Amino acid sequence: MVSFYEELTVRCSKQLVHDDLPNTSIIICFVDEVWSTLIRTVFSVLNRSPPELLKEVILVDDFSTKAFLKETLDGYMKQFPKVRILHLKERHGLIRARIAGANIATGDVLTFLDSHVECNVGWLEPLLEQVRINRKKVACPVIEVISDKDMSYMTVDNFQRGIFSWPMNFGWKPIPKEVLQKNKITDMDPIKCPIMAGGLFSIDKKYFYELGTYDPGLDVWGGENMEISFKIWMCGGEIEIIPCSRVGHIFRNDNPYSFPKDRVKTVERNLARVAEVWLDEYKELFYGHGYHLLQELPNIGDLTQQKELRKKLQCKSFRWYIDNVYPDLDAPLARASGVIMSPALGKCLSLQNATVVLDDCDASKQNQHFNFSWLRLIKQKDLCIAPGEKDKVTVRACDNKNSGIRWLHKSLTTFQPSLEAHFVLEGIPRPTCLEYEPLQNRLRTSACNVNNKLQKWQFEKYIAL
Ligand code: UDP
Ligand code: MN
Repeated sequence: MVSFYEELTVRCSKQLVHDDLPNTSIIICFVDEVWSTLIRTVFSVLNRSPPELLKEVILVDDFSTKAFLKETLDGYMKQFPKVRILHLKERHGLIRARIAGANIATGDVLTFLDSHVECNVGWLEPLLEQVRINRKKVACPVIEVISDKDMSYMTVDNFQRGIFSWPMNFGWKPIPKEVLQKNKITDMDPIKCPIMAGGLFSIDKKYFYELGTYDPGLDVWGGENMEISFKIWMCGGEIEIIPCSRVGHIFRNDNPYSFPKDRVKTVERNLARVAEVWLDEYKELFYGHGYHLLQELPNIGDLTQQKELRKKLQCKSFRWYIDNVYPDLDAPLARASGVIMSPALGKCLSLQNATVVLDDCDASKQNQHFNFSWLRLIKQKDLCIAPGEKDKVTVRACDNKNSGIRWLHKSLTTFQPSLEAHFVLEGIPRPTCLEYEPLQNRLRTSACNVNNKLQKWQFEKYIAL
């Protein structure tokens, strides 16, 4: 019996492409890669790419420490005239190593690969065909799995897209069935991909430089796939997975090379750079899902050039990206919203002349409408409810970095579930709560008391708590 997969391979092999496809430089960066897997990668490229389309293979040695990756490798590769080797003089990290490879490439299209892959039969033509059709299209192969235990090659499900979830974790997600049916998508059609996996793709070389390549401020590894994906989509391009192009990749649980600095910190810093440049108001969701990241901000480096690039390219907003590229992303801007009611009094918080008071609830009144933000601010437009002098409660200009105006509420009070309904000021050793004080008819902050009904508050609508 012919498997579904074999049958697809036959149909793919019959697919026609233009006879004037652009040629490509293959760029493979590596640091301390295993000999056999590196050779397997290069052989699969040389053996399975039409010679007229393969301009060169550029191996970028990112300052490996293993001796066999120096003269031995150079000597061995001499038999393949198309293979060029660039030994970097210091560790660049994946991102800057790719840029270094691109800088010496002479082909029309750049095709990036990891150093532990196997390109399958007919992998290249379908990628170049898509770039030929639209120079702003970035084409990715389907990534199949090579077992890191026995090096066997396994096929994967069709119709998977690269996506992310908060705080910017890459993942795979099937295209919803309705979308498949509505758009009559068949198994050979390119799949619109919100985020590319990162390692394997073809891009028009001029277009790559128009996009300003990668943000060169990204270190070692991680987040660069987010950066380039947002940039491509928001600045007029598109990313597609091409089902007829298949490349196997060895997935490993760990990075088999050293990080110059802490691995987690490096990735988080990269992601924070991406968030600051591309996410607009949605960066609150990024920080909201990883509060500690906000503290790293001073160390993320200068972003002026990246922000200018975004302006120069007249890129669209992140909102546009969500609406048009990734509509199934869960991205409510507030965790709760609407009026804030005191269940005990049946009254609501209201902003009047820049002070907070209690008033008869009226959900239609704008001055009773608040948002509870991802960074725990109680906001009305740009104003935030904040502790004032002594026990006073005031309003201040919102400032995401000011931890003194953050309140814990609902699920955020897990440290003391009995304070669920309270607004507890963050970062004060003695739990301090927002309270209505009837004698002077005012709001104040006071020591939290689980049983005090005048300390209990409820938003009209809870969205993500
Ligand atoms: N790499 C590199 N310099 C680095 C880190 C990684 O050249 O500082 C190379 C690595 O050898 C590999 C590619 O970049 O060929 C992608 O890295 P890796 O395979 O570890 O990423 P993963 O596939 O696990 O996401
Ligand atoms: Mn890899």
